Amino acid sequence: MAIAVAAEKLTRQIEELSGQVIADCYQCGCCTAGCPIGGEMDPVPSQAMRLLQLGRVQELLDSDGIWLCASCMVCGTRCPRGVDYARIAEACRALVLRTRVSKVDPDTVTEEECEEIPQQAFMASFRKFSV
Ligand code: SF4
Ligand code: SF4
Repeated sequence: MAIAVAAEKLTRQIEELSGQVIADCYQCGCCTAGCPIGGEMDPVPSQAMRLLQLGRVQELLDSDGIWLCASCMVCGTRCPRGVDYARIAEACRALVLRTRVSKVDPDTVTEEECEEIPQQAFMASFRKFSV
C-alpha cells in the first residue's frame, strides 16, 4: 500500500513538473516511431508512458531511457494526443537529480560506447550535470 501511494505521488510530481497528462496517452506508438534514439532507448517513449500509467514509475526513474533522451522534441510533435514526452523525461531526470544520484558518469564512458551511441544522446546526458 505504501509503495502504491509513493508511486502515485511520484506520478503526480511528474505531471506537475512536465505539464503533461499521463492518462492522455493511448499507446499509438507514434512517439517511439519518430525517436532518433529509439534503437538505444529502454524503455522507448511509448513504453515509458505505459509504465507511468501502470504505476510502475520507479522502473522508469531507474531506467537508462530517460537519460538517453536528447530532448529533440520529435515525439511531442508526432503525438496525436498532444503529449510531449520530452518534458516527461526531463521531469523524471529532475526527480532523480533531486536525490543527488547521477545516472551518467562521463568518466566511465568507454571509447567503444562513444563510437556506438549517438552523439546527441551523450550531449543530452552531460548537459544535465549543470543542475
Ligand atoms: S525528445 Fe527524447 S524521446 Fe522524444 S524523440 Fe527526441 S530523443 Fe526521442
Ligand atoms: S505518440 Fe502520444 S499517444 Fe501515442 S504512444 Fe506516444 S505519447 Fe502516447
